[in-house]
Amino acid sequence: MTEIMDKTDIKSLLKDELAGRLAGLGEPAFRTKQVFTWLWRGVKTFDEMTDLPKALREKLNGAFFITAPVVERKQVSRLDGTVKYLWRLRDGNFVESVVMRYEHGNTVCVSSQVGCAMGCAFCASTIGGRVRNLAASEILDQVMYAQADSGLKISNIVMMGIGEPLDNFDNVIRFLRLVNDPDGLNIGMRHISLSTCGLAEKIDKLADFDLQLTLSVSLHAPDDETRSKIMPVNRAYGVDRVLDACRRYFDRTGRRISFEYAMIRDVNDTPFHAELLAGKLEGTGCHVNLIPLNDVPESKLSPSTPESMRRFIGTLERHGINVTVRRKLGPDIEASCGQLRREREKK
Ligand code: SAH
Repeated sequence: MTEIMDKTDIKSLLKDELAGRLAGLGEPAFRTKQVFTWLWRGVKTFDEMTDLPKALREKLNGAFFITAPVVERKQVSRLDGTVKYLWRLRDGNFVESVVMRYEHGNTVCVSSQVGCAMGCAFCASTIGGRVRNLAASEILDQVMYAQADSGLKISNIVMMGIGEPLDNFDNVIRFLRLVNDPDGLNIGMRHISLSTCGLAEKIDKLADFDLQLTLSVSLHAPDDETRSKIMPVNRAYGVDRVLDACRRYFDRTGRRISFEYAMIRDVNDTPFHAELLAGKLEGTGCHVNLIPLNDVPESKLSPSTPESMRRFIGTLERHGINVTVRRKLGPDIEASCGQLRREREKK
């Protein structure tokens, strides 16, 4: 938990932790729900908690602080209404979120870290490395303030923005518990997806929580040689170790894994890769989401041709694998996640 000048980040506290702290300040139990509800209604100061006695507001102000990001930049797609935010955090760092409008509801894609330590060759978010983890409050704020600013009611969350969520494990679990709280944003686990580059031990650790969220695993190659070239994390956790962890995850939670596969021309999109991938996933009931590679100017990799995409899909389908292609939203605003922050940091 972040403590700044001895003050506690109040929105990162779970409700029972808040109850403990308020009891410590000599407050009656009913205050907990009152304060908690105010926080998740989006107040930025304790003075806005108008039904609390002034003395209590002052006490709270002495012990806690309330996080609130500032919109540094906002882009709205004229084509499909996608909204992209670059947020400035209280320490001057930046992260991004995207609100996507689907028929089944509005989805927000949130960041979990400032930067990323994973070093994937095709990803803009990792270029400057990992600066720091986000607090649970800072992940939640993205949902809350994207909803408030855009006026779009958020029903689904994907943790696919900047950062590796399982590399910020404790804060991410805290975030999941808070977002799920009926007195908070009250978004159910089945409306949340978490995407990881495949930290096998952390997948096992997550399985122990037995949450009903959707786990997406960024596989991007079915063999160690190819995967290690584009994802350095593969040198620590190879393909088979990741797939074993996925199998255990499914056994434990009953939730099928979704694999992400960015299609990179002549790197991971050949018939060899398609056959090997199909062989490894056949019969598992898993889902494969192909992502047409977004161009990252800093990388030399390019997207697969439509022809090799078609061939790849054909192979997977022949093996009975459920495959979809990710639709590109907001094509008229800045491409993929990580790029707005990247641009801002260069200034
Ligand atoms: N660290 C997590 C989540 C962040 S990225 C993870 O690795 O899964 C969300 C997805 O976008 C991941 O599958 C990631 O590999 C993919 N991605 C990153 N850069 C991309 C690019 N330039 N084109 C297509 N997909 C990309």
